[in-house]
Amino acid sequence: MIVVMSPKATEEEITHVVDKIKGLGLTPHVEKGEVRTVIAVIGNVAMLREHSPEAWPGVENVVSIMKPYKLVSREFQMHDTIIDVKGVKIGGKQVHVMAGPCSVETREGLIAVAKAVKASGATILRGGAFKPRTSPYAFQGLGEEGLKYLADASEATGLPIVTELMDPRDIDIICKYADIIQIGARNMQNFRLLQEVGKTDKPIVLKRGLSATILDLLMSAEYIASEGNRKIILCERGIRTFETATRNTMDISAAPVLKQLTHLPVIIDPSHGVGKWDLVAPMSKASIAAGADGLIIEVHQSPEDALCDGPQSLKPTKFDVLMKELKKVAEAVGRSM
Ligand code: PEP
Ligand code: MN
Repeated sequence: MIVVMSPKATEEEITHVVDKIKGLGLTPHVEKGEVRTVIAVIGNVAMLREHSPEAWPGVENVVSIMKPYKLVSREFQMHDTIIDVKGVKIGGKQVHVMAGPCSVETREGLIAVAKAVKASGATILRGGAFKPRTSPYAFQGLGEEGLKYLADASEATGLPIVTELMDPRDIDIICKYADIIQIGARNMQNFRLLQEVGKTDKPIVLKRGLSATILDLLMSAEYIASEGNRKIILCERGIRTFETATRNTMDISAAPVLKQLTHLPVIIDPSHGVGKWDLVAPMSKASIAAGADGLIIEVHQSPEDALCDGPQSLKPTKFDVLMKELKKVAEAVGRSM
């Protein structure tokens, strides 16, 4: 249920409504817009109806949200959420590209790739220090050492960093280094992990699970938002289907569908979406044309030597060419890059 306050409602009236909602044992989430304040009410909202909230001072209207997700819905917030990461505004007119290696391997290699992707126009550096590998025998990431290299690369380039958190036990160490916390596809429904990052004030990239529907993804975002953190960037990264020609089936429709259903920014990861470097460029262009707010792309100095996801990683020279092409696509659809 959403309580829509009148544009003329005073601060006292808003506080009064919030207190009344809390007094009924319900949870209010206040959203102060430019024109008016709306209050989402979570809990047994049937009880709220019985107390005629329409008659409370300053209340203009009371609307039911029939969807199971509330705080992340377009009904709750009409305008797009713009997330500011050290001055990089994700979800606005400008399309942002996050780029870097799948996993952090060496300090020198990371700094070199960070400088290259920055020169090409990337605005966020990606790199995993804790890697979710299918095999327990595969390279698992450098852990804290990798986070330190990310910090060094960030200092050398000024690029904010996005890196994956896999386990609530690592949350403090990740928060110390990361500007954006990535929740990987395999953890999209790790609800305890979602609740923990929901208690932080870090922006979150929430990747779509391998077999998750759009509704599943939005419910996971709601888990984070319900703990207080609304700085969530949704990420389509391909799903499992019967198709085997590509690593995953990249669902480009996720971008426009999500933009209708939610106010949160939406980015696409074509690298994991298709799993082949030579398909990354066309899928990146299609993503921006379809309305994505950004991309996350794997770039490695020497993909053939990469410890993880080499076959889908672009060389810096290829990435540079792609960025020039993407700028034109962005401009063609009324965005900038
Ligand atoms: C990654 O970004 O390197 C990664 C492991 O992604 P996903 O969780 O989408 O597989
Ligand atoms: Mn990867």
